[in-house]
Amino acid sequence: MSSQKIFLFDFDGVIVDGMHEYWHSSLLACEKYLNSPYISFDQELYKRVPNTFKEIRPWVKYGWEMILIVHEIIKTKNPLTNNNKDDFINNYHQNCKNILNYNSWIAEDLQKILDESRKYQIDKDFKSWVNLHYPFFEVINFMNELKKREIKTGIITTKGKIFAEKILKQLNIFPEFIFGYESGTKIKIAEKLTRTYEVLGFIEDRKRTLINIKKNSETSHIKCFLADWGYLKKSDRYNLSNGIKLLRLENLKETVAI
Ligand SMILES: [Mg+2]
Repeated sequence: MSSQKIFLFDFDGVIVDGMHEYWHSSLLACEKYLNSPYISFDQELYKRVPNTFKEIRPWVKYGWEMILIVHEIIKTKNPLTNNNKDDFINNYHQNCKNILNYNSWIAEDLQKILDESRKYQIDKDFKSWVNLHYPFFEVINFMNELKKREIKTGIITTKGKIFAEKILKQLNIFPEFIFGYESGTKIKIAEKLTRTYEVLGFIEDRKRTLINIKKNSETSHIKCFLADWGYLKKSDRYNLSNGIKLLRLENLKETVAI
């Protein structure tokens, strides 16, 4: 094993709380690029993030799913609401597929318009866009602490790399690596990194991703931490399988012997 040490982080829900940005950017994508006949717009929608959206967010794996969810919430007929959200959640993946099919959408196209929406805001008013993200300063401090100890940091996100990079730069964080959705699955990225580095740990708020890391023979030795402060489903905190620890912000430093 290499003597080069690295610590891995997910981005959304681990380094920043981007809930306002997800809502804002997805809504803007629906308004500017989606051309759906089933929705109508009111600028009031931008003012606050509906609970329905917040509660479904823990099920989201890729950004494009958020566009689909926003579309369902702002539909003029039979919208997705707090009253019927459980039905949506209980069959989340199938429901996403059905909505794609019904509207003849392709996931990649939805991802493209989400990226477009972000680019548009960055070009127009970068500061306002960045300010939609709330950093978890305990994590930022921890990353700085790692740097002092010459432990490298890597970010593995399902966001586009360029967007994570812009926010991190604003927070004065310059990790050795940032991998976005363009780089493939988190498991494959972690697998590759273990060939060159001693991976000290991985903090992520999506339990399924950590379970898959633990199941894969090449990455199963990585210490996995489920971020208690992230977008967790209620059930995530219970029955954690072997090797995955629930981590609280105040216990970050206990993840490595520093
Ligand atoms: Mg996350």
